[in-house]
Amino acid sequence: MTKRVLVVEDNELNLKLFCDLLRAHGHEAEPVRDARDALERAQLTRPDLIVMDIQMPHVSGLELIEAVRRDVVLRPTPIMAVTAYAGKGDEDRIREAGADAFVSKPITLARFMQSIDELSELADARALH
Ligand code: MN
Repeated sequence: MTKRVLVVEDNELNLKLFCDLLRAHGHEAEPVRDARDALERAQLTRPDLIVMDIQMPHVSGLELIEAVRRDVVLRPTPIMAVTAYAGKGDEDRIREAGADAFVSKPITLARFMQSIDELSELADARALH
């Protein structure tokens, strides 16, 4: 089923890749290039899922994930964090911040879409409550 996905990524090539992939699989993708715009855009568009880069200028993905989890309306939105794998400690911190899934760069298309499918099911399950 079609999901509306907010994609927060400062790297233009990755942003295009993620949005193209999502659209090729029937989803709607909303690109956000500047992390400073991400929370407001999420509040305006109420996406079903969020794909979140971690290393970004001005505001880190970790801070944004925490901000989403503090927002009463956005709180249940499943979040996939995408970042260069730097060790188990990093993955733990990202999950503790509130990410539901973690995909390391360079991504494989199969792994990315598998994670989107899992988060779509999670979004449906949370919407039932
Ligand atoms: Mn980045």
